[in-house]
Amino acid sequence: QYNFCAGPAALPTAVLERAREEMLDWRGTGMSVMEMSHRSETYVGIAQQAEQDLRDLMGISDDYAVLFLQGGASSQFSAIPLNLLRGHESADYINTGNWSKKAIAEARRFADVNVAASSEANGFIDVPDPDTWQTRSDAAYLHVTPNETIGGLAYDRLPDSGDVPLVADMSSTILSRPLDVSRFGMIYAGAQKNIGPSGLVVVIVRRDLLGHASPATPTMMDYKVQADSGSMYNTPATYSWYLAGLVFQWLKEQGGLEAMETINRRKADKLYGFIDQSDFYANPIVPAFRSWMNVPFTLADDRLDSEFLQGAEARGLLNLKGHRSVGGMRASIYNAMPESGVDALIDYMASFEKERG
Ligand code: PLP
Repeated sequence: QYNFCAGPAALPTAVLERAREEMLDWRGTGMSVMEMSHRSETYVGIAQQAEQDLRDLMGISDDYAVLFLQGGASSQFSAIPLNLLRGHESADYINTGNWSKKAIAEARRFADVNVAASSEANGFIDVPDPDTWQTRSDAAYLHVTPNETIGGLAYDRLPDSGDVPLVADMSSTILSRPLDVSRFGMIYAGAQKNIGPSGLVVVIVRRDLLGHASPATPTMMDYKVQADSGSMYNTPATYSWYLAGLVFQWLKEQGGLEAMETINRRKADKLYGFIDQSDFYANPIVPAFRSWMNVPFTLADDRLDSEFLQGAEARGLLNLKGHRSVGGMRASIYNAMPESGVDALIDYMASFEKERG
């Protein structure tokens, strides 16, 4: 079976097997990781190893704190303005789809939000050219969503934000290929696509941005408090953090992010290539801005949608239904999706087209 869910998404089978092996007795401790005190030497070792592996994979320098927090990526929509306004009143946001909009709506509760660019007018089929963005020089930060999970829209390049810290919601693209972390003030990602279980959110934030949270910031949301306590101001999501660590180890075994880039590019090229040569399937996104992780597509006749989905499920191709706001289909092909899953999907799409197209 192949699970094309956008999130929570499939985890690598090898990771789940490892977790099963270790579930009741973690390496002779007689205890599940779930049962360990987060203050114990054993658990702190697991947590620190996970952080180190993430730092190795992404090349994160000591200038950045890496936090393992709770509340998903959505909690960061409010934590960001609370922490990063630093006495400024305004922040710049780029609107490229549903997740940008949610981040913008939440930030408006705390900040004077300037939507510096938007592709809403053309239905979010591209990312506005950074040269045309109406950013403000006094903005506290510039927020982008490099991969819009619902629309299947991705940035083709990173914008240059100058001295203004660049803040990125990388929930659905983190770890899919190498990234120059030093270009960002902050990166955050809900875990449930390329990292691990939902609920966990990873925050990578430049240390010089810490310590300026608005006085009203809830303690749990204050990055400085969390950085100073090793993300253990309260009881962290211990088991999710451990599972994230297993995923990081798995990624290292695969050859790191360069290797993932090669595989992910191939998977996406195959699927888009198939869609483009067909008159029956279509993807609306301008090719340069197509997501490698989330591939929405429509059938020429949407009355065939439910039949397509039923046939897919019968073949073990699961969760292909598109997001309720856009309809059609969506294949999410994160790191854990093997190339064989994409091949199986293309096979099915071809045979469905032959029969019903
Ligand atoms: N940002 C993006 C790009 C997402 O895809 C998602 C969701 O899945 C979120 C934010 C929200 O994440 P969470 O459900 O962890 O709050």
